[in-house]
Amino acid sequence: MALETVNPATGELVHRYDEHDDEAVGRMLAEAACAAAGWRRSAFAERAAGLTRAAGLLEARREELARLMAIEMGKPLAQGRSEVDKCASVCRYYASEGQRFLSPEDIPTDAAHSFFTFQPLGVVLAVMPWNFPFWQVFRFAAPALMAGNAGLLKHASNVTGCALAIEELVHAAGFPLPLFRTLRIGSSRVARVIESPYVQAVTLTGSTPAGRSVAATAGGVLKKVVLELGGSDAYVILEDADLEAAAEACAFSRLLNGGQSCIAAKRFVVVESVRARFEELLVERMRARRMGDPLQDGIDLGPQARHELRDELHQQVERSLRGGARLLLGGVLPDGPGAFYPPTVLSHVAKGQPAYDEETFGPVAAIIAARDEQDALRIANDSIFGLGAAVFTSDLVRGERLAAEELEAGSCFVNTFVRSDPRLPFGGIKESGFGRELGLFGIREFVNIKTVYVK
Ligand code: NAP
Repeated sequence: MALETVNPATGELVHRYDEHDDEAVGRMLAEAACAAAGWRRSAFAERAAGLTRAAGLLEARREELARLMAIEMGKPLAQGRSEVDKCASVCRYYASEGQRFLSPEDIPTDAAHSFFTFQPLGVVLAVMPWNFPFWQVFRFAAPALMAGNAGLLKHASNVTGCALAIEELVHAAGFPLPLFRTLRIGSSRVARVIESPYVQAVTLTGSTPAGRSVAATAGGVLKKVVLELGGSDAYVILEDADLEAAAEACAFSRLLNGGQSCIAAKRFVVVESVRARFEELLVERMRARRMGDPLQDGIDLGPQARHELRDELHQQVERSLRGGARLLLGGVLPDGPGAFYPPTVLSHVAKGQPAYDEETFGPVAAIIAARDEQDALRIANDSIFGLGAAVFTSDLVRGERLAAEELEAGSCFVNTFVRSDPRLPFGGIKESGFGRELGLFGIREFVNIKTVYVK
């Protein structure tokens, strides 16, 4: 079996990689378990030095890695460069904070000494998506290695070149070879890896169906699992919002990474009194973005990552239009090679249409009218997903209250777009998954929180 990478801007085959056979996978699992047994006794300073070196290597290779992403999954170069820098930042963050997050803490009881401490779990399998091929991996790998675990990466098949570059870079940073490996396997072989006695835990970032399947396997063998799944983030635009600023943030969030982000703004829930003006402003901004070859500087929107995903997105748009949505911009498949899809804006989106009910993983904005604040919150929360949400209002007290208490999501932002940040916990509720990455909570996912009680 082979894993193929195809340039989505041209449709041309980039590379065909042989899969690892079962024997090679078995060997890497056993070696990872052995390496984890040694690594758990390493000093935090040694782990931090490795992450700091990895950060330096990422920055030194920024251009090369951004090109690789552009070729394998169509990310515009400027966005690829920022992604590489963000990976360096998460390495430095855990290098500097990891030991503090995992320091033992005394708990006064009737014991002579009672405390909790953190110990690594061992080998953690990471099943990762193609949309942020470096960031998704480093936000798992940096805390996992800092906590003393080994990592096995099963990356999305269409970004195998990125997966191998990450593996090579981690080793060049000084981490022992068996401690972090890329498994070149397709998704049908993931279950057997989870079931291996050498693997203690699994994390998956990807679609909800993939999460369901991995969770079922992990549940069958009772292994710890963290799931970062899909989203259909609602941005609530209230009548007192700065509409120009809101439209700018909404267009940016909807089009970043070709709209292929779990925390992209997907549904725009707009109070009726400002809907017409917001629509005008959003269309203006979405129309102004330049679509083209991701290897050219100055491009905002590259192709979608794979042809079939672009075609599925177009079907969601067509079904929404048949269901009563109105097309304000885009919505037409461009001629020529490449998996391009234009910035698209739909208004009059309503329940029963894919643009309301499903995740649209591409540059398609769905505008939904709401009577008032209460109706807008009802619509925003009327989703199977709960990853991110945002509210736009000039009343910061009102915005903070709605974000903190009313919106049902793992991350709620006021007057700006939802983003991930190494310092802030990240994750979802409902079908967006469970568990957290990043910040204090992220590094504590794959550790044994051990209580010690000395009489
Ligand atoms: P995907 O098809 O679910 O693939 C993600 C990873 O899971 C890939 O490595 C894939 O391998 C593997 N996979 C697929 N089906 C599997 C199964 N049944 N068992 C085990 N592994 C399986 O998702 P994607 O298209 O790459 O990424 C887009 C999705 O990821 C969107 O829904 C997006 O919202 C979500 N996402 C979520 C977050 C978050 O943090 N919450 C971040 C980014 C993306 P193959 O490539 O070999 O099929």
